[in-house]
Amino acid sequence: MSKRKQPGAPGKPGPNRTASASGDDGAPAAAGVAGRDAGPEPGDSTLPFNWTRKQWSEWKNRNSWLFAKNQKLGCTVCMRAKSLLLDEWSTAGHLSEKWMNGDICSETQNNLRKKIYKHRDSLAHRRAVEISETKGTDALPSHVQDHSPVVQLNVGGHIYCTTLGTLKKFPNSKLADMFNGPPKLRSDAEGRYFVDRDGTHFGQVLEYLRVQRAPTDHLQEVYREAVFYDIRPLVKLIEETPRFFGETVGRQQFLSRVPHYQENLEVIIRVARAEAIAARHSTIVVCVLRSEEDLARYNDAVSGLIAERESMVSFGPWKGTPTAVDLLDSIKMDIEAKGYKVSFQPYSVEKGFLFKSYDFFFKLTFTWW
Ligand SMILES: [Zn+2]
Repeated sequence: MSKRKQPGAPGKPGPNRTASASGDDGAPAAAGVAGRDAGPEPGDSTLPFNWTRKQWSEWKNRNSWLFAKNQKLGCTVCMRAKSLLLDEWSTAGHLSEKWMNGDICSETQNNLRKKIYKHRDSLAHRRAVEISETKGTDALPSHVQDHSPVVQLNVGGHIYCTTLGTLKKFPNSKLADMFNGPPKLRSDAEGRYFVDRDGTHFGQVLEYLRVQRAPTDHLQEVYREAVFYDIRPLVKLIEETPRFFGETVGRQQFLSRVPHYQENLEVIIRVARAEAIAARHSTIVVCVLRSEEDLARYNDAVSGLIAERESMVSFGPWKGTPTAVDLLDSIKMDIEAKGYKVSFQPYSVEKGFLFKSYDFFFKLTFTWW
């Protein structure tokens, strides 16, 4: 019984060459964070007064609600609460005006830190969080993103543009971790963050982070990305879709019980291609031995076929309810997913056997043109 890891099965993400490049001193600091994030300079108006960029990014990482403007601090949550309450502003008297307007400053770092802690634990801030959660939740991302640095990403050659806030939406994800603290990613020639991984389906991951939109196609591929970047809510969401559930829990579990299923598919394709030269069709005999009894009867049958010099690939036996037809459907589905056009017919052997040969034998035809 071959134990193959199913495609897209949950598990440890594979090795990440880019991540291993962390601590690479050659990588520019905060590479790829657009323009205004160029480096630590005293007096940089995008930093709180007297803070270094490193200090700011550490504080920002721990308190994602902070924003800095004109060397002062503000709170994105409070700011948003204000915009949500514009019509009923008179009732919002107990919110913190200064934090909303980004008007918090202090001569000493210590003092500013105390103000941050104080605000985080204040009634005003908690009230703002409450307002944000109960009123139009869709407004939050844009307001948060207004103050989140724009980031360009190069994922295996696919260029994406988003905000740091979007990438760090789920703080426990591997994706968020890539952008926490000191730069962990290399940058490409244009200064964009570089992830050495196929980026074809990263857009759907990004779309989920932006607006919580569930992916509708390429579920297996998006799932693999969600697992890799360890975005748990998206992993769970995809696992719960009927299509993914049926494929993973139903079909792939069944196929994992069919010995050498994947290897056999590769053999079939290899043989078919070899026989395609100057031909319109290639045919291969597929032998399906559903049970141990089939296997016992098989030796007699196959001797006749070998005499006919047919290419043949055998599947089975397996334990479980799916039938030979179910297996044939799976074979067809998987070969067609690779872009081939195939069909099955019962295979009849001309020579007289003591049993009906089409119990096991099927002719798989590849149509090339
Ligand atoms: Zn606040």
